[in-house]
Amino acid sequence: MTHFDIALIGFGAATMSLAVRLASDYPGRVAVIEPRELPSDDRTWCGWRLADHPFTDQAAQTWSAWAVSHGGRELVCRSDHIPYEMLRASAVQARALDAVASRPDWQFFSRQTLQTATYEKAHWRLSLSSGATITADCVMDSRPPGIGLDRPWLWQSFVGRELVGPDLPATGPVRLMDFIDDDAPLLTFVYELPISDGRRLIELTRFAPQRPSLAELGTSLDRLLDARGLATHTIDREESSHLPMAPIPPTSRSGWMRVGTAGGSMRPATGYAFHGIQRWADACARSLIAGNNASPPSRSRWMDWLDGVFLESLWAGGNADAPGARFHRLFECTPPESMARFLMSRPRLGDIGHVLRALPMLPMLGAAGRYSIRRRRPVTLDQP
Ligand SMILES: Cc1cc2nc3c(=O)[nH]c(=O)nc-3n(C[C@H](O)[C@H](O)[C@H](O)COP(=O)(O)OP(=O)(O)OC[C@H]3O[C@@H](n4cnc5c(N)ncnc54)[C@H](O)[C@@H]3O)c2cc1C
Repeated sequence: MTHFDIALIGFGAATMSLAVRLASDYPGRVAVIEPRELPSDDRTWCGWRLADHPFTDQAAQTWSAWAVSHGGRELVCRSDHIPYEMLRASAVQARALDAVASRPDWQFFSRQTLQTATYEKAHWRLSLSSGATITADCVMDSRPPGIGLDRPWLWQSFVGRELVGPDLPATGPVRLMDFIDDDAPLLTFVYELPISDGRRLIELTRFAPQRPSLAELGTSLDRLLDARGLATHTIDREESSHLPMAPIPPTSRSGWMRVGTAGGSMRPATGYAFHGIQRWADACARSLIAGNNASPPSRSRWMDWLDGVFLESLWAGGNADAPGARFHRLFECTPPESMARFLMSRPRLGDIGHVLRALPMLPMLGAAGRYSIRRRRPVTLDQP
């Protein structure tokens, strides 16, 4: 039986980000257990790059303008200092696989899942689907847990198609939210990345109390593409998921830690996680390289509170297009760089002032009152 200092369960955004930082300086042995055959181009990671990270060179595209549209009005925001970037999962995986391969003392258990884990004599004994058994002092588990959510938290569900064909110019901003008037609670919008000339990612996204069927969302997206004359374009790649828009509580016990989305790295009100994961991976790698324990993901409590109040205000509804109008006003009244820092969970004091001034006072006060009553309701998680 082989012993490791750390076992990484899953090789996704969080564990890959940690592995690339550990590969050069961490003296310990690391095992990686991943069920898929990599690379797999199943998603793109986008967000505002506030600081360089080990995958900066891997960015497939960056943009200096982004737009929010509602009721036929398009608002374009710009920054020459904070780019919105897109990274392909396959490029990030290639970099991370190279990092693991550079360490002959590490082991990659490809196409294997964790079957059982038992804690004995200060280490974890892990049995894998291949029949192999390993032990590890510390386990970092990025497997997606089963999650139950209650108001005000939401599911962000989306289906995206990367299209290739004519009439898809690379010019124009990233369309973050182009709101659609439909009957679905609570809001639906199109997200659009003009990746290059003749190539565009178009996603239909819904924030909803219950997870809608992805097949049904895909059919709505196809109708939309048809209406835009894009139905016959080649679909090069698809991505879809349900993301929990909720403050996932950290789980850490006896050397077992949930990381990434499973450990609470996702920002509740946005679904952005990749850049927060980079900050966690920096801190965690520093701690491990210095000979200390791994540090768990962390979020700011007051931002969780603000996110809860904001999402609660969306539930209250009012007129059908209120959520779209609220997002539009938020982007309109907040300077673009303040908004980017705020959405990436790194606001300066002045940024927070801008965001608070852009939110409608009375609906937010009402939502704060309702949220303070509701917020003790837990987000439920399966045990690892
Ligand atoms: C399609 C999609 C697009 C997204 N786009 C963005 C974006 O643009 N910007 C952003 O900030 N966030 C985005 N997110 C949200 C978030 O950043 C990602 O979900 C991110 O990958 C989360 O990282 P993670 O490490 O927590 O989980 P993952 O990257 O999902 O990694 C989990 C790993 O666990 C493995 N695993 C699963 N089951 C087992 C098992 N039984 N045993 C061992 N391993 C297992 C999986 O194979 C995977 O490698 C997106 C999510 C999805 C699904």
